[in-house]
Amino acid sequence: MNSLKTVEDLRRYIREIKDFPKKGINFKDITTLLADAKAFSFAIDMLANRYVKEGIDYVVSVEARGFIIGSVLAYRLGAGIILVRKQGKLPAKCNYKSYDLEYGSATLEIHKDALKEKDRVIIADDVLATGGTALATIDLITGFGAIVVETAFLAELTFLKGREKLKPYAVFSLLSY
Ligand code: AMP
Repeated sequence: MNSLKTVEDLRRYIREIKDFPKKGINFKDITTLLADAKAFSFAIDMLANRYVKEGIDYVVSVEARGFIIGSVLAYRLGAGIILVRKQGKLPAKCNYKSYDLEYGSATLEIHKDALKEKDRVIIADDVLATGGTALATIDLITGFGAIVVETAFLAELTFLKGREKLKPYAVFSLLSY
């Protein structure tokens, strides 16, 4: 593939899978972006450059694809990564929040001692769809009195209006669909 110059050049690395995981869902498959060394580093650098001067203490990410984005972004920002997981996966005592997905529903958990008041946090994930996952994660973070500086995504499905659901929290995405 050609070299990457602008953020729009990333679009061709995201593969679209029709009717996955069920009929009517047009799944944005980022494994093709992750597998390309240049596209992966370009995407992470675009996000890291945006936050490098923001004094970010932690990147918070939701399993599973969110961990891939969040961990490299945290490393680049000199920040820690905090894991938000589906119910029953985290070992220590947790706070929890139930939420709706584009397809189904779930409960997310975060360790009770994961954050403290005034910590500066960004949420990082691969795709913003309905915003249910990000909103539940915001609730978990603000429950500590921590500050959500922004929510950051590789791609946003604008027709699902996740950005509106997350108001007044700021949303940044590299690509819009
Ligand atoms: P939502 O809570 O609706 O914003 O969904 C967010 C999560 O579901 C993200 O972490 C995505 O990984 C995944 N997701 C939802 N819809 C899609 C889609 N059409 N393509 C790829 N991932 C999706």
